[in-house]
Amino acid sequence: VGVLPSYASIGIAVAPTDGLDLDQLLRNADLALYGAKSDGRRTYRFFEAGMDARAKARRSLELELRQAIVDGSFELHYQPLVDIAANRISGFESLLRWRHPQKGMISPAEFIPVAEDIGLIVALGEWVLREACAEAMKWPADVKVAVNLSPVQFRSRNLVQAVISALAHSGLPARRLELEITETLLLEKSSQVLATLHALRALGVRMSMDDFGTGYSSLSYLRSFPFDKIKIDQSFVRDLGANPDAQAIVRSIVSLGVGLGVTITAEGVETEAELSCLRAEGCHEGQGFLFSRARPNAEVISLLKAQRVATALVA
Ligand code: C2E
Ligand code: MG
Ligand code: MG
Repeated sequence: VGVLPSYASIGIAVAPTDGLDLDQLLRNADLALYGAKSDGRRTYRFFEAGMDARAKARRSLELELRQAIVDGSFELHYQPLVDIAANRISGFESLLRWRHPQKGMISPAEFIPVAEDIGLIVALGEWVLREACAEAMKWPADVKVAVNLSPVQFRSRNLVQAVISALAHSGLPARRLELEITETLLLEKSSQVLATLHALRALGVRMSMDDFGTGYSSLSYLRSFPFDKIKIDQSFVRDLGANPDAQAIVRSIVSLGVGLGVTITAEGVETEAELSCLRAEGCHEGQGFLFSRARPNAEVISLLKAQRVATALVA
């Protein structure tokens, strides 16, 4: 496995335990291969009982996902990004939701990896871009919208065109759109990825590094591309106040941001104690259940109205 190229996966079935004829052995080796692939490829798996049931469940999820695109069962919800010093909403992150006819709301953490595996994320991602830009046009002109991008969308080659077309169709100015990517995208150090990132930034959209601190957190990523924003992963925010190490990490990311002229956003802010700690460290933006969960767009507009009334009362 040490020498397996990144695209190779191996499934193994052994006679006589996994089958007595060629057909059955091949079928079970294939199921084991499927398991190896879903373990992130470049690995091997032996056949195990239960793989069949898991493969069936997975196949039905794939079919349901394809159907959901046709049926329009996806929704975007929006979670506020709050300017900590000004105490006001500066934008919203769009978060994908799947309203399954039987199972109810399904989390993106569950279906996005599957949509990536079967390539459906490209069409789904284009829908998200169009929808988020169009909805943001209903908000005040100084409120931004953030859209998450999957690394798979960068392999499709027409990502830049999809962004241009979402902006053109909605009429949203590019500076109001933020695109969030994660460190995994930069792992490969691919020149095509960097070229796409630069092409996107040249459109005038803002680029954010999401979940910072969870991957390799290599500082070379920050030198390889001029990000406009770094989002500190919620695992560091969760411990703030109680854990001096987490506080030291947040402090250094904030000073890094100040030095590089990059906005620093803390994800997953749940308590007042976390917020006051972030404020003391000079963190620019916060996002989390303390402010609001992701809400449907109808509620976004009332959230913004309520905020305007509140600021008018304070003034
Ligand atoms: P993310 O981009 O890091 O989004 C933040 C996630 O943290 C969201 O989960 C949000 O609901 C959750 N969150 C926000 N505040 C808090 C908090 O105070 N406490 C806790 N415990 N959680 C909080 P969600 O909506 O389940 O999304 C999960 C991930 O799925 C996202 O992580 C993002 O990577 C991905 N995702 C969501 N929508 C899209 C999309 O349209 N396209 C792509 N490619 N990925 C998406
Ligand atoms: Mg995000
Ligand atoms: Mg995040």
